[in-house]
Amino acid sequence: MRLSRFFLPILKETPKEAEIVSHRLMLRAGMMRQEAAGIYSWLPLGIRVLKNIERIVREEQNRAGAIEVLMPTLQLADLWRESGRYDAYGPEMLRIQDRHKRELLYGPTNEEMITAIFRTFVKSYRSLPLNLYHIQWKFRDEQRPRFGVMRGREFLMKDAYSFDIDEEAARRSYNRMFVAYLRTFARMGLKAIPMRAETGPIGGDLSHEFIVLAETGESGVYCNSDVLDLPIPGEDVDYDGDLTPIVKQWTQPYAATEDVHDNALFESEVPNDKRIHTRGIEVGQIFYFGTKYSDAMKAMVNGPDGAERPIHGGSYGVGVSRLVGAIIEACHDENGIKWPEAVAPFRVSILNLKQDGAETGAACEELYKMLTAQGIDVLYDDTDQRPGGKFATADLIGVPWQILVGPKGLAEGKVELKRRADGSREMLSPADALARFTA
Ligand code: ATP
Ligand code: MG
Repeated sequence: MRLSRFFLPILKETPKEAEIVSHRLMLRAGMMRQEAAGIYSWLPLGIRVLKNIERIVREEQNRAGAIEVLMPTLQLADLWRESGRYDAYGPEMLRIQDRHKRELLYGPTNEEMITAIFRTFVKSYRSLPLNLYHIQWKFRDEQRPRFGVMRGREFLMKDAYSFDIDEEAARRSYNRMFVAYLRTFARMGLKAIPMRAETGPIGGDLSHEFIVLAETGESGVYCNSDVLDLPIPGEDVDYDGDLTPIVKQWTQPYAATEDVHDNALFESEVPNDKRIHTRGIEVGQIFYFGTKYSDAMKAMVNGPDGAERPIHGGSYGVGVSRLVGAIIEACHDENGIKWPEAVAPFRVSILNLKQDGAETGAACEELYKMLTAQGIDVLYDDTDQRPGGKFATADLIGVPWQILVGPKGLAEGKVELKRRADGSREMLSPADALARFTA
């Protein structure tokens, strides 16, 4: 992509309405624009990151055996009357009427709809276990939308739903999502810690929130610092095998949200120098809720003995759009964003430091052509900005690698490769710079 042809509406001034750094940087870097409180348009730089996050979530869901579907954003009120949640949900639910005076709602979550799909088609325990997920926009009319995409009203969520014959099998499904979440967030360059959590309006008795530690987070959390150093399961993790050792390892050190925190237990279990009490951002939550929805909505299957029984369910959410903000909270400095490579909007940018110079222009064009030909996402800053402006833009938008092409270096046959994460730089030939990305 040539920056001169791209749409990157960078703001010079720091927007006053933004209270936290990720919100400020997303606005300044031209990633999104607010359309109404808690409702955003995603601009080209922002959508690239959002799609990368979505892709990682999808890959790890598929790897863990979940199967993708796509349910609509609008749902019938009658469906929610079946579970009793139409009245229970309260003002967070956006209720809509169509021209025939049919009552609809913009889905805040999909337990009811997926249960209705399930009971239409699945009749036998032989079809279990089953885990269906989708990645779809949700709406919750939050009392206080704030912090940009971190607490929006319209937001993108991955939600998965598991169906099992009994509690034991349901716990195996829960463990698969637990492990998939460990991998998902780690791949995005995040340390997200599973913490015991309240189940809230979803219901049920077993739940973990995955929390990224950050002072700007909205959740108070307590944990043992040992949990920060636990190993992430590899790509070869066997989702058909026994995952309890991994889950045990991760749930042994104390880690709880303030809603379920037990101070006496915390102080008896965790030595003084390992106690962490801080704030965090909830990027995902998993629940086991048993037969709550299958009882209310009659989602029954025949067991091996031929008798009908309600299925045991769980639900598993990831805040896909919230993650964009959470990653920035974890990865930035005073100059801007430092994207982890896996989610970066571009992998590398080329900065032409003398736009009207024949040599620098030719060298940049050649690098740009070669990188593009290799399928590498590259942003070429071919604008008329002075070098200082180009440095600032590149640092602000946080592309992991910058290739600086200036007349001095080129005279010696060199370009400079800068790594955004730590600011390290080295001089090397254009061919060697290319090889870094194509090798
Ligand atoms: P919170 O406690 O932050 O309000 P929640 O517990 O109500 O979230 P869940 O029902 O667990 O949310 O939804 C799954 C995930 O969706 C959450 O872990 C979070 O990452 C994300 N999410 C929830 N509400 C919002 C929101 N208003 N804006 C952006 N992301 C959200
Ligand atoms: Mg939650």
